[in-house]
Amino acid sequence: MLHLPQKPLQVAAALSQHNPTREDQAGPWHAEAVCRRDEAGLFFAPSKEPTAARLSREDAAKRVCARCPVMVDCREHALVQPEPYGVWGGLTAAERRVVLARRRRRDAELRAAATTSGRIAAAG
Ligand code: SF4
Repeated sequence: MLHLPQKPLQVAAALSQHNPTREDQAGPWHAEAVCRRDEAGLFFAPSKEPTAARLSREDAAKRVCARCPVMVDCREHALVQPEPYGVWGGLTAAERRVVLARRRRRDAELRAAATTSGRIAAAG
């Protein structure tokens, strides 16, 4: 069962994205999720959370993710959507933004390389 956020403010947006319809669209992986609805406070930040508390909470959430059999599927889901809040697949929202930026950079490099090799072949 996917974790559901319990806190107001920014988490309300995440809550709207964790409705059953969304979970149905996520694919069968969520049925094997280790996280539970009552653990939602672990995965989503309450408003005005102090930094030390956030880091501690995120570490605890990541420990849950580390023993989850669907971590890879969950992470990819959160990257593809993309999920803007919470810990998914062992990554925080900030960490997911870094991964997505790397992917965009890599894709741009691959496109540039393909264009270059196409020019070389055409000139060949
Ligand atoms: S990887 Fe983490 S957030 Fe994703 S389903 Fe498993 S326990 Fe929940």
